[in-house]
Amino acid sequence: VSPDEGRLREQFRRWGQSLFERGYTAGSSGNFSARLSDGFLVTPTNSCLGFLEPEKLSKLDPSGRHVGGDPPTKEVPLHLSFYRARPQAGGVVHLHSTFATALSCLEATDAHDTIPPITPYVAMRVGRVPLLPYTHPGSADVAPLILHAAVEHSAVLLANHGPVVSGPAFEEAVFAAEELEETAKLVFLTQGRAVRRLPNAAVSELQARFRLR
Ligand SMILES: [Zn+2]
Repeated sequence: VSPDEGRLREQFRRWGQSLFERGYTAGSSGNFSARLSDGFLVTPTNSCLGFLEPEKLSKLDPSGRHVGGDPPTKEVPLHLSFYRARPQAGGVVHLHSTFATALSCLEATDAHDTIPPITPYVAMRVGRVPLLPYTHPGSADVAPLILHAAVEHSAVLLANHGPVVSGPAFEEAVFAAEELEETAKLVFLTQGRAVRRLPNAAVSELQARFRLR
Protein backbone atom coordinates (compact mmCIF):
# COMPACT_ATOMS: atom_id res chain seq x y z
CA VAL A 1 0.00 0.00 0.00
CA SER A 2 1.52 3.31 -1.14
CA PRO A 3 1.39 6.35 1.21
CA ASP A 4 -1.20 7.93 -1.12
CA GLU A 5 -3.40 4.83 -1.00
CA GLY A 6 -3.13 4.61 2.79
CA ARG A 7 -4.15 8.27 3.08
CA LEU A 8 -7.14 7.73 0.76
CA ARG A 9 -8.30 4.67 2.71
CA GLU A 10 -8.32 6.76 5.88
CA GLN A 11 -10.11 9.64 4.09
CA PHE A 12 -12.85 7.23 2.95
CA ARG A 13 -13.37 6.11 6.55
CA ARG A 14 -13.47 9.63 7.98
CA TRP A 15 -15.64 11.23 5.31
CA GLY A 16 -17.95 8.20 5.18
CA GLN A 17 -18.54 8.47 8.91
CA SER A 18 -18.99 12.25 8.77
CA LEU A 19 -21.44 12.21 5.83
CA PHE A 20 -23.42 9.33 7.36
CA GLU A 21 -23.65 10.98 10.78
CA ARG A 22 -24.81 14.25 9.23
CA GLY A 23 -27.57 12.45 7.31
CA TYR A 24 -26.15 12.87 3.80
CA THR A 25 -26.90 9.24 3.00
CA ALA A 26 -28.74 6.46 4.84
CA GLY A 27 -28.46 2.71 5.36
CA SER A 28 -26.10 1.11 2.86
CA SER A 29 -26.74 3.77 0.19
CA GLY A 30 -24.01 5.88 -1.37
CA ASN A 31 -20.54 4.96 -2.54
CA PHE A 32 -17.08 6.45 -3.05
CA SER A 33 -14.20 5.90 -5.42
CA ALA A 34 -10.75 7.39 -5.94
CA ARG A 35 -8.17 7.01 -8.69
CA LEU A 36 -4.89 5.35 -7.63
CA SER A 37 -1.60 5.15 -9.54
CA ASP A 38 -2.35 1.43 -10.13
CA GLY A 39 -6.16 1.35 -10.39
CA PHE A 40 -9.09 2.46 -8.23
CA LEU A 41 -10.18 2.35 -4.60
CA VAL A 42 -13.95 1.75 -4.20
CA THR A 43 -16.35 1.21 -1.29
CA PRO A 44 -17.57 -2.41 -0.95
CA THR A 45 -21.04 -3.59 -1.93
CA ASN A 46 -23.70 -3.33 0.81
CA SER A 47 -21.36 -1.37 3.06
CA CYS A 48 -22.60 1.49 5.22
CA LEU A 49 -20.60 4.69 4.66
CA GLY A 50 -20.75 5.30 8.41
CA PHE A 51 -18.73 2.19 9.28
CA LEU A 52 -16.12 1.70 6.53
CA GLU A 53 -13.06 -0.38 7.38
CA PRO A 54 -10.00 0.98 5.50
CA GLU A 55 -8.38 -2.46 5.03
CA LYS A 56 -11.57 -3.96 3.55
CA LEU A 57 -12.12 -1.35 0.82
CA SER A 58 -12.27 -2.81 -2.70
CA LYS A 59 -9.37 -2.37 -5.04
CA LEU A 60 -9.77 -2.48 -8.83
CA ASP A 61 -7.06 -2.63 -11.48
CA PRO A 62 -7.00 0.10 -14.19
CA SER A 63 -9.43 -1.96 -16.33
CA GLY A 64 -11.93 -2.16 -13.41
CA ARG A 65 -11.26 -5.80 -12.44
CA HIS A 66 -11.62 -6.57 -8.71
CA VAL A 67 -8.11 -7.35 -7.40
CA GLY A 68 -8.32 -6.83 -3.62
CA GLY A 69 -10.50 -6.28 -0.56
CA ASP A 70 -14.24 -6.98 -0.35
CA PRO A 71 -16.36 -7.15 -3.56
CA PRO A 72 -16.99 -3.61 -4.86
CA THR A 73 -20.26 -1.63 -5.00
CA LYS A 74 -22.60 -2.60 -7.83
CA GLU A 75 -22.36 1.04 -8.94
CA VAL A 76 -18.83 0.50 -10.33
CA PRO A 77 -19.98 1.25 -13.95
CA LEU A 78 -21.13 4.68 -12.81
CA HIS A 79 -17.75 5.48 -11.22
CA LEU A 80 -15.54 4.07 -13.99
CA SER A 81 -17.49 5.96 -16.65
CA PHE A 82 -16.74 9.19 -14.82
CA TYR A 83 -12.98 8.49 -14.84
CA ARG A 84 -13.09 7.51 -18.52
CA ALA A 85 -14.90 10.70 -19.47
CA ARG A 86 -12.82 12.92 -17.18
CA PRO A 87 -9.08 12.21 -17.09
CA GLN A 88 -8.82 15.09 -14.60
CA ALA A 89 -11.13 13.37 -12.06
CA GLY A 90 -9.40 11.95 -8.98
CA GLY A 91 -12.46 11.07 -6.91
CA VAL A 92 -16.18 10.36 -7.36
CA VAL A 93 -18.88 10.54 -4.66
CA HIS A 94 -22.41 9.13 -5.11
CA LEU A 95 -25.00 9.84 -2.42
CA HIS A 96 -28.76 9.54 -1.99
CA SER A 97 -28.78 12.90 -0.21
CA THR A 98 -32.38 13.94 0.47
CA PHE A 99 -32.85 17.29 -1.26
CA ALA A 100 -30.81 16.56 -4.39
CA THR A 101 -32.64 13.24 -4.72
CA ALA A 102 -35.98 15.03 -4.27
CA LEU A 103 -35.03 17.37 -7.14
CA SER A 104 -34.19 14.29 -9.24
CA CYS A 105 -37.80 13.08 -8.75
CA LEU A 106 -39.65 16.31 -9.64
CA GLU A 107 -41.29 16.58 -13.06
CA ALA A 108 -40.63 20.34 -12.94
CA THR A 109 -36.83 20.02 -12.59
CA ASP A 110 -35.04 21.44 -15.65
CA ALA A 111 -33.16 18.39 -17.01
CA HIS A 112 -30.42 20.60 -18.49
CA ASP A 113 -29.87 22.64 -15.32
CA THR A 114 -31.11 20.86 -12.20
CA ILE A 115 -29.25 23.04 -9.66
CA PRO A 116 -29.64 26.74 -10.52
CA PRO A 117 -26.64 28.99 -9.80
CA ILE A 118 -28.08 30.84 -6.82
CA THR A 119 -24.85 31.03 -4.79
CA PRO A 120 -21.22 31.51 -5.88
CA TYR A 121 -20.04 28.26 -4.28
CA VAL A 122 -22.30 26.03 -6.30
CA ALA A 123 -21.12 27.79 -9.47
CA MET A 124 -17.47 27.32 -8.43
CA ARG A 125 -17.54 23.79 -7.07
CA VAL A 126 -20.32 22.10 -9.03
CA GLY A 127 -21.29 24.05 -12.17
CA ARG A 128 -24.27 23.11 -14.33
CA VAL A 129 -25.71 19.71 -13.39
CA PRO A 130 -27.75 17.76 -16.00
CA LEU A 131 -30.37 15.11 -15.17
CA LEU A 132 -29.66 11.65 -16.65
CA PRO A 133 -32.60 9.35 -17.51
CA TYR A 134 -33.50 6.63 -15.01
CA THR A 135 -31.62 3.31 -15.14
CA HIS A 136 -31.82 0.69 -12.39
CA PRO A 137 -29.06 0.86 -9.72
CA GLY A 138 -25.97 -1.01 -10.85
CA SER A 139 -27.13 -1.07 -14.50
CA ALA A 140 -24.38 -0.93 -17.12
CA ASP A 141 -26.83 1.19 -19.17
CA VAL A 142 -25.75 4.20 -17.11
CA ALA A 143 -22.23 4.01 -18.59
CA PRO A 144 -22.92 5.55 -22.03
CA LEU A 145 -25.07 8.28 -20.44
CA ILE A 146 -22.25 9.28 -18.08
CA LEU A 147 -19.54 8.93 -20.72
CA HIS A 148 -21.46 11.51 -22.73
CA ALA A 149 -22.43 13.93 -19.93
CA ALA A 150 -19.27 13.87 -17.81
CA VAL A 151 -17.02 15.21 -20.57
CA GLU A 152 -18.68 18.61 -20.01
CA HIS A 153 -19.99 18.26 -16.46
CA SER A 154 -18.27 17.40 -13.19
CA ALA A 155 -21.57 16.32 -11.59
CA VAL A 156 -24.86 14.76 -12.72
CA LEU A 157 -28.20 13.88 -11.12
CA LEU A 158 -29.54 10.39 -11.82
CA ALA A 159 -33.32 10.61 -12.27
CA ASN A 160 -35.27 9.28 -9.24
CA HIS A 161 -31.98 8.17 -7.64
CA GLY A 162 -29.47 10.85 -6.63
CA PRO A 163 -26.31 12.86 -7.37
CA VAL A 164 -22.92 11.69 -8.67
CA VAL A 165 -20.15 14.24 -8.17
CA SER A 166 -16.49 14.20 -9.22
CA GLY A 167 -13.53 16.32 -8.22
CA PRO A 168 -9.81 16.58 -9.00
CA ALA A 169 -9.24 14.71 -5.71
CA PHE A 170 -11.52 12.64 -3.46
CA GLU A 171 -11.95 15.34 -0.79
CA GLU A 172 -12.85 17.93 -3.41
CA ALA A 173 -15.55 15.58 -4.71
CA VAL A 174 -16.90 15.34 -1.13
CA PHE A 175 -16.96 19.15 -0.80
CA ALA A 176 -18.74 19.48 -4.15
CA ALA A 177 -21.30 16.81 -3.18
CA GLU A 178 -22.03 18.71 0.05
CA GLU A 179 -22.34 22.00 -1.85
CA LEU A 180 -24.76 20.39 -4.32
CA GLU A 181 -26.93 19.06 -1.48
CA GLU A 182 -26.94 22.40 0.38
CA THR A 183 -27.96 24.23 -2.80
CA ALA A 184 -30.73 21.68 -3.47
CA LYS A 185 -31.97 22.49 0.06
CA LEU A 186 -31.98 26.23 -0.78
CA VAL A 187 -33.93 25.49 -3.97
CA PHE A 188 -36.70 23.93 -1.86
CA LEU A 189 -36.58 26.67 0.79
CA THR A 190 -37.01 29.36 -1.86
CA GLN A 191 -39.48 27.50 -4.09
CA GLY A 192 -42.55 29.52 -5.04
CA ARG A 193 -40.79 32.82 -4.29
CA ALA A 194 -39.04 35.19 -6.69
CA VAL A 195 -35.43 33.96 -6.71
CA ARG A 196 -32.51 36.11 -7.83
CA ARG A 197 -30.12 33.85 -9.75
CA LEU A 198 -26.51 34.93 -10.16
CA PRO A 199 -26.18 36.80 -13.47
CA ASN A 200 -24.60 34.77 -16.30
CA ALA A 201 -21.61 37.12 -16.34
CA ALA A 202 -20.97 36.45 -12.63
CA VAL A 203 -21.17 32.68 -13.19
CA SER A 204 -18.72 32.88 -16.12
CA GLU A 205 -16.35 35.00 -14.06
CA LEU A 206 -16.41 32.54 -11.13
CA GLN A 207 -15.78 29.60 -13.43
CA ALA A 208 -12.90 31.35 -15.20
CA ARG A 209 -11.34 32.49 -11.93
CA PHE A 210 -11.65 29.19 -10.09
CA ARG A 211 -11.11 27.03 -13.19
CA LEU A 212 -14.05 24.72 -12.69
CA ARG A 213 -13.39 21.60 -14.74
ZN1 LIG B 1 -27.32 4.85 -5.65
